[in-house]
Amino acid sequence: MKIETQAVHAGRKIESQFRAVATPIYLSTVYERGEDGGRLSGYLYARDENPNRQALEECLAALEGGAAAAAFSSGQAASMAVLQSLKPGDHVIAPQDVFYETALFLRGTFTIWGLESSFVDMTDTAQIRNAVRPNTKLVWTETPSNPLLRITDIEAAASIAHEAGATVVCDSTLASPVLQNPLALGAELVLHSTTKYLGGHSDLTGGAIVARDAEHPLFAGVRKMQQNGGGVPSAFDCWLLLRSIQTLPYRVRAQAANALRIAEFLEKQPAVERVRYPGLKSHPGHAIAAKQMKGGFGGLVSVQIKGGAKEALAFAAQLKLITRATSLGGVHSNVDHRKSVEPPDSKTPENLLRFSMGLEHVDDLLADVERALSA
Ligand code: PLP
Repeated sequence: MKIETQAVHAGRKIESQFRAVATPIYLSTVYERGEDGGRLSGYLYARDENPNRQALEECLAALEGGAAAAAFSSGQAASMAVLQSLKPGDHVIAPQDVFYETALFLRGTFTIWGLESSFVDMTDTAQIRNAVRPNTKLVWTETPSNPLLRITDIEAAASIAHEAGATVVCDSTLASPVLQNPLALGAELVLHSTTKYLGGHSDLTGGAIVARDAEHPLFAGVRKMQQNGGGVPSAFDCWLLLRSIQTLPYRVRAQAANALRIAEFLEKQPAVERVRYPGLKSHPGHAIAAKQMKGGFGGLVSVQIKGGAKEALAFAAQLKLITRATSLGGVHSNVDHRKSVEPPDSKTPENLLRFSMGLEHVDDLLADVERALSA
């Protein structure tokens, strides 16, 4: 079935007691057991399984064309579960501009724990190949990347990883399952911060790992980290997320259309040094993005303002409709000066503003940007 249909139907059942069409929220942490100690309903304890989480996982797996999904309390909890499923002595290849908190963990906690990692420019597949070691177990990709919007060729990265006997995880948060399906391009696992497009309304925190093969050893580790490690989302957050997903395809495509218009406008402005948007022909990863994405290039536009941090912040300060706030993927447009929140050694230029385009009318968004530039 098409993604619009899956977004509405996958994981949903009519509830049996009252025939409720909208899924109820199951807050119970415990389930009655049979006289023999067995499970009467299939459920036992909420950290292991919950009907709302199970419905959400079925839907997420369907949206990505996967066999199974594991939902977490945040994108970072999902990332940590993947890395914790590796063994000390294993080697990870990650992008130089991987989401900065993942980089912090790879360089800090996981190095102490004995995991080796190499950071490469993944836009250059030769660098991935050269980084392969006999103990390489995971190639971590993030495309488009946050906030530099670099594009990694997922198929090329997967073919290098598979030759080396390694697994590929793709952080596809910025694309959402609407614009990109990494499992179909060779990745074994997909990561989403569901806080972003899947949640879509800036009111929930969540994460997920979707697996092509439910029996994949790394996914088995992820499931164990979820159920025994315990970074699970609440029943309410699962319900809210599943509710939001119903409109996902329409939201994401409209956000991408707004982003393209804003990117095209900004590219022509004299105060702008560079616009990073994979949908622009000027973007170095445009051809690969066009090959592996569909229906749009995402709702994020990163803009480098001529000058430095001062000039970028002054421009952002003049925006009235577009809110100065972090995160992305919500229905409200945001602008974020990433360098202010990332560590000093991050690769993000200090004159970069990251726009997350929402669902406002594009004419109002353009008017806000135009007025702020001329203020
Ligand atoms: N991956 C990417 C690409 C992100 O942008 C983020 C958050 O901004 C994360 C992972 C982490 O997700 P969360 O904030 O839900 O823990």
